[in-house]
Amino acid sequence: MSAILKSVGPARYAELVAKAVRILTSLDLMDMNGHVSARDADDPERMYINSRKASRSTLRLSDIVPVDIASGERVGPGDEVPSEYHIHREIMHRRPDVGGIVHSHPDFIVTLSIAGHQLLPVTGVGSFLPEDVPVFDDASLINPRERGEAVAALLGNGPAVVLRGHGVVIVGATVEEALARYVCAEENARIQYRASVIGTPRVLRGAEREYVCAQTWTPSIVEKHWNYHEMTARRHGAFDSMDA
Ligand SMILES: [Zn+2]
Repeated sequence: MSAILKSVGPARYAELVAKAVRILTSLDLMDMNGHVSARDADDPERMYINSRKASRSTLRLSDIVPVDIASGERVGPGDEVPSEYHIHREIMHRRPDVGGIVHSHPDFIVTLSIAGHQLLPVTGVGSFLPEDVPVFDDASLINPRERGEAVAALLGNGPAVVLRGHGVVIVGATVEEALARYVCAEENARIQYRASVIGTPRVLRGAEREYVCAQTWTPSIVEKHWNYHEMTARRHGAFDSMDA
């Protein structure tokens, strides 16, 4: 998708995941425990995810772990998978349309969930969110597997599920789309929060939301999001020593 991403095959997915994680940490939108996964388009039963131990801010290509979705087993070199990798495996298993997943713990989405506020589509970039984003009403880690199954079931065919007092899971057809949606969901939550301080937020509903979403979330705009974040991160040195 990006003119800058030159790798092919498994290396492409390692690069995508590493870049997505570094972009999100450089934006202060991912903490030390977040993760991103990518499905291999040429081998749809395989996904790639950042390792459990590796520092997100200095993630290297060798820190990306290939996993067989059916068995949940690591199928190549790399460190152990994150304890919450069940989120990714169970969603990838149920949703063949999903090619990328982001899970972390962004401030405003978590704040709304703690206060009992529904995450709502209030901005153009947030228009991909339905009016009834499901909330997983349990703040503990998504481990063991059964909890991953429950989160995937709650997500259903939607783009997002909020984990109360914990974080959010955002999916996309590609890693690029999942990252763009994740960044925009947190921006939408920040603006929703601020609007609620001074008044009652106006929500994009029904046909209005669908129209705005169709305008705002085209493949070329997803590519524009990714390129913007990729180039900005590169300019700030966020990809330094990624091949090491
Ligand atoms: Zn988490």
